[in-house]
Amino acid sequence: MTGARFDRTPAEQGLLAQGQAIAEAHPRPAGRPLDGAELRAIFRALAPTGYLASTLPREAGGQGLSAAEFCALCEGLAPGLTLIGNHSVQRYLQQFGDAAQRARFLPALLEGDGVGAIAMTEPQVGSDLERMTTTARRSGHGYVIDGEKTWVTHGLSATLIVLLAKTDHGLTRFLVPGDAPGVRRIAMEPVGLRHLGFARLAFDGCEVPAEWRLGGEGEGLRGAKAAFPIARVIAATQAVRIARAAVAIARDYAEGRSVARAPLAGSSLVQHGIAHLSARCEAVSLLCRRVADDLQAEDVVATASAAKALAGELALDACRWTEDLLGSTSLEAAHPLATLAGDARMMAVVDGTSVLNHLVVARRLLPVRGGAA
Ligand SMILES: Cc1cc2nc3c(=O)[nH]c(=O)nc-3n(C[C@H](O)[C@H](O)[C@H](O)COP(=O)(O)OP(=O)(O)OC[C@H]3O[C@@H](n4cnc5c(N)ncnc54)[C@H](O)[C@@H]3O)c2cc1C
Repeated sequence: MTGARFDRTPAEQGLLAQGQAIAEAHPRPAGRPLDGAELRAIFRALAPTGYLASTLPREAGGQGLSAAEFCALCEGLAPGLTLIGNHSVQRYLQQFGDAAQRARFLPALLEGDGVGAIAMTEPQVGSDLERMTTTARRSGHGYVIDGEKTWVTHGLSATLIVLLAKTDHGLTRFLVPGDAPGVRRIAMEPVGLRHLGFARLAFDGCEVPAEWRLGGEGEGLRGAKAAFPIARVIAATQAVRIARAAVAIARDYAEGRSVARAPLAGSSLVQHGIAHLSARCEAVSLLCRRVADDLQAEDVVATASAAKALAGELALDACRWTEDLLGSTSLEAAHPLATLAGDARMMAVVDGTSVLNHLVVARRLLPVRGGAA
């Protein structure tokens, strides 16, 4: 990057608008996950935008979107149709898959007929993945997998799961078709983002052939760190959209509600709250754009983590402040603010809690042993 850039390019603006239009055309169902057919309809609608290929280059089946363009598209989808992680399986296949794996699994994912999911987190193990207990034991020509994963986005409808398990040589990735014998899906009841079909996945003696190991044994975390900045900046960008939507609700309410014979919008306390949150939205949004604009920047791991931490906190604060402002008005479960507040809680944790992301920055500022990754 040669200098600061504050305006979106026409391509970024176009993708943002496309994301918004698709989100409007596909409202999420209230209080339940999208079923497989609904999710596929959304993915097929998204396929022409390049979303399903993320930033894969054209020669790999992608549309060569830049990170900033991909971010703009994801930004447009939120908060109505916040989507996370769908591109990760495609990127893993492209980066670590062999030709046979790519030929077998990529086309369906790129066309929107397949649904990918990542299964790493376990009930007792989150960011500290080295401690995981899911095992993949050598057996004949393949592996037998036993263990339980949790918080798997699209776990309910995934047709292909990238699973992380322990082998004799350490953490290793596997490609597991969703209908493989021994895979059991247990629906979760999250506080937000319910449309994303979160599941616990139990692997009970699940056999996979050796050809479906993705990369070598012990290489399960290879490339993971390099993927943090783009994942974190996308999550941050979408969290800012949630914050902006909450502020918009606050503004509308303040303009239409009178208390003690005066409009709430005239109260300096309310004006200050709205102005402060709006300024934070603008500032974090600019930080996100800076990160997305140059993923090769020397400090990108820290700036992406800072953006994620600040955006998650901002979404929570904006929802919380607006809840207070609205009094009883937002207390019905179907109120849009209730949906935003649940989504904000989820977005504050995905791709690392605020604490974890601040610790990443601290490690750069205070380079001592033992910081977060
Ligand atoms: C919306 C959403 C989607 C998700 N999708 C997926 C998915 O598709 N696949 C998947 O495998 N997982 C998924 N996850 C799980 C996600 O990856 C984990 O929630 C995340 O890794 C954090 O793990 P944890 O929640 O268990 O908390 P942990 O990482 O175990 O952290 C527990 C507590 O310790 C703190 N902490 C962490 N590290 C440090 C440190 N170094 N020093 C001090 N304190 C620390 C944290 O802030 C937190 O308070 C998803 C989660 C969410 C919310």
